[in-house]
Amino acid sequence: MNAANSKPLLVVGAGIAGITTALEAAEAGQEVVLLEREPSVGGRVLKNHQYFPKMCPPACGMEINTRRLERNSRLRVLMQAQLESATRSGGGWQVKVRQSPEYVTSACTACGDCSKVCPSKVADPFNLGLVQVPAIRIPHTDAWPRRYVLDREACPTGCQACADVCKAKAVVLDAKERTEELEVGAIVVATGWAPYSLEKLPELGGGVIPDVVSNVQLERFAAPAGPTGGKILRPSDGQPPKRVAFVQCAGSRDVNHLAYCSAVCCTASAKQALYVRQQLPEAAVTVYYIDRRMPGRNESMLVEAEAAGVKFVKGKVGKIRQGDGGAVVMRVEEIEAGRLGEVEADLVVLATGMEPRGLGGKGLPIKLDADGFVLDDRAAGVFAAGVARRPEDVAATVRDATGAAAKALCATRSV
Ligand SMILES: Cc1cc2nc3c(=O)[nH]c(=O)nc-3n(C[C@H](O)[C@H](O)[C@H](O)COP(=O)(O)OP(=O)(O)OC[C@H]3O[C@@H](n4cnc5c(N)ncnc54)[C@H](O)[C@@H]3O)c2cc1C
Repeated sequence: MNAANSKPLLVVGAGIAGITTALEAAEAGQEVVLLEREPSVGGRVLKNHQYFPKMCPPACGMEINTRRLERNSRLRVLMQAQLESATRSGGGWQVKVRQSPEYVTSACTACGDCSKVCPSKVADPFNLGLVQVPAIRIPHTDAWPRRYVLDREACPTGCQACADVCKAKAVVLDAKERTEELEVGAIVVATGWAPYSLEKLPELGGGVIPDVVSNVQLERFAAPAGPTGGKILRPSDGQPPKRVAFVQCAGSRDVNHLAYCSAVCCTASAKQALYVRQQLPEAAVTVYYIDRRMPGRNESMLVEAEAAGVKFVKGKVGKIRQGDGGAVVMRVEEIEAGRLGEVEADLVVLATGMEPRGLGGKGLPIKLDADGFVLDDRAAGVFAAGVARRPEDVAATVRDATGAAAKALCATRSV
């Protein structure tokens, strides 16, 4: 059976993994439906300031992909959409997809008039809730589709300022949720990851000490469109830190938290240590690690960080407390020096790991491993791609997602 008369492939999640799988399959002739639960595609990669190994803004690579998405008539992208149910049907799946109400339609020209008159503010999900933005807004500067989104629950009763000002008549305040049933030949789960919560690490000051932040927060602090306009500052007093410490394996490779290695945190911290040295050349930057796991070309980040004066100390940080005069005090076992003692910093970055997100719903057709990552199930025609399958960086995700497209193509063509 050729691709033209096989059932479509369903890809859930439009991060770099889902986009890659969907594009590779569609460009090979397969009809594809790509679901994304957020109002724009790209996933977590776009929240980075720069991405290793090239250290370019993540929007660069994503722009090429969104152009490919736009041009491919075999690909349907459903935004703010989630898989509601899936039942076996004729060797494939009958699925129900739920789409949130489309309060801003494709008629939106992204002029921004609605944001200017909006009286209501919400915590900005793109900036991890660290700043307030109007309830109607563009999700972020590089959003695709380039369309505003409305947080309807935040609207004051009776307010229709955005609808009144919209010249394109794109705001529909009484839009309704929609459901759609589809017959698909195979499913690729590319739902990615969520950061391990800082609040689960109170012994390391997570959620308790203001100047203990996570690696994902640091990406936003360093980004020009982030909450500090790209300045790396201490949250407690808004001052540039003079001593910055990175704590590796914060809640990772630890049976009390995440038992596994998240594979990217060592390279991400070397990258972030470079952000600090480039922006604050006087700051002392130390990375406390158990092992340095930066395979392949990611090792160049270690070389660059060391050349830039970043100090790497083999040592386990066991406890972090608030010290005097705003200092953050870490209890560290420095393994090579054979020393156990306390070290001060002004800003501590916890390298927290990635937790798989799965499909979230009940009764959906996925098998998980012991850590919650999605397993391929060839017999059922369900495959995993990207960090939904295992922790990995973007380059590995793209390879993995291309493989998932190939496996799913075989499955859809045999249905
Ligand atoms: C601090 C940090 C820095 C990093 N820096 C780099 C770097 O510089 N270079 C690099 O190569 N890698 C980096 N990484 C790793 C990189 O972020 C991942 O490799 C990448 O995000 C994996 O993409 P993904 O598509 O698998 O997942 P995600 O980026 O999480 O995308 C998943 C998508 O699925 C959507 N989704 C989730 N659930 C559902 C659902 N139920 N229904 C519909 N849609 C859903 C999400 O909204 C999202 O759009 C970093 C990681 C961390 C923690």
